[in-house]
Amino acid sequence: MNRYIRIMILFICLFMPVIGFAEKKISDVPVVTIAHPARAGVGQPFLVRLTSDQAFDRISIHWMGRVVVPSVSQWNGRHVAVAMLGTDVLTIKAGPKALLVRAWVGGKETVQQRKVTIVDKSYPRQELTLPSKMVTPPAKVLERIKGERVRTQKAKNTWSDQRLWRLPLHRPVGGKTTSAYGLQRILNGKPKNPHRGLDFRAPVGTAVEAIAAGRVVLAESHYYAGNSVYIDHGNGVISLYFHLNTFEVAQWDTVKRGQVIGRAGRTGRATGPHLHLSVSVQGQLVDPAPLFDGTTDQLLR
Ligand SMILES: [Zn+2]
Repeated sequence: MNRYIRIMILFICLFMPVIGFAEKKISDVPVVTIAHPARAGVGQPFLVRLTSDQAFDRISIHWMGRVVVPSVSQWNGRHVAVAMLGTDVLTIKAGPKALLVRAWVGGKETVQQRKVTIVDKSYPRQELTLPSKMVTPPAKVLERIKGERVRTQKAKNTWSDQRLWRLPLHRPVGGKTTSAYGLQRILNGKPKNPHRGLDFRAPVGTAVEAIAAGRVVLAESHYYAGNSVYIDHGNGVISLYFHLNTFEVAQWDTVKRGQVIGRAGRTGRATGPHLHLSVSVQGQLVDPAPLFDGTTDQLLR
């Protein structure tokens, strides 16, 4: 017999059972539906939703080196899990990014490899002039800034299992937004990091309210951000409130959606009284704006 034919027969014998087994397996794999946008702008948050007729034993979503285990709720007799993901304008490069979803239902695992393409988004530029000591901090405060960075990094990366946020988020103050997320700032002629939050007009003393229910993971005074409050809303979503005049909560307090957590001010590096709000999603500071305007369905598209 020709050597090639023999090799071919050997291959068929080896792989037929595997192919047959694979076909059989597909038919009993539970149906898990996954919804997510195909594209998202640099710095923009988005959602991933998993739906199943049977209860989930376990779910994990893998995105940009992070593992997200979302809370599951029941809706119309179906099991639904929603996770918030996003990228940070400071560090992300546009391009296709892998999104891996693993779900265990009825003791069986389904793995779905997806892709979200991060597309460039043009953000405006702004030139500002500030006293030079606020742009380049004096040497004596460098240690203080370093310590603050360690604690804020830890707070931004808090994980808790129960999701307490819902969309759209509650607006923290009634005032209009002034500086948008992504703004490229030139301070005293030098390009600085882009603005990774949203500024709201808020005179000194304005009540600042929690954007969702949660737990205060940090409440202290910082060199740049002034009096700051960090609230964990569960499943990797943390809100940050800067330049407060006074605190109305302390670390480890639990808060309700809309609860007053402080009063607006101009503490830290601020040119005038306002509220700076940032939202950390899986440790990335994303654009908060779509989370106040968008519904769950809009953030899945
Ligand atoms: Zn700001």
